[in-house]
Amino acid sequence: MAECLFCKIVNGDIPCNIVYQDENVLAFRDINPVAPVHVLIIPKRHIQSVRDLNDENINVVTHIFNAANIIAKELGIDETGFRVVTNIGEDGGQTVLHLHYHLLGGRNLQWPPG
Ligand code: 5GP
Ligand code: ZN
Repeated sequence: MAECLFCKIVNGDIPCNIVYQDENVLAFRDINPVAPVHVLIIPKRHIQSVRDLNDENINVVTHIFNAANIIAKELGIDETGFRVVTNIGEDGGQTVLHLHYHLLGGRNLQWPPG
């Protein structure tokens, strides 16, 4: 989608700090990190949110979690632990309407979130 912020990042129209990419997903540092490691993992193809996953595109979730494991290892948080979370819709706290998973780690994360 031409007007989508994360599609612009995928297309290279907006710069980002890439930590991993493959054919299906792109992962880059969050611009406003809330933990020492805060990476966003997104499908390269526009999908608005979890609500728009279906039989045809559901495989991207596998690719996202595969990337999460690779990145966690690469950034040295695989053994200390980390969190992978996606926000959905207004009450979920989703502000960018392109599916993204937050990979958080490098400190002791609290639960429940606010
Ligand atoms: P959400 O609130 O939708 O779950 O998460 C959106 C995330 O995108 C936020 O953590 C926010 O800091 C991040 N973000 C928003 N705009 C940009 C941007 O232009 N570049 C990067 N790297 N992250 C962004
Ligand atoms: Zn998009």
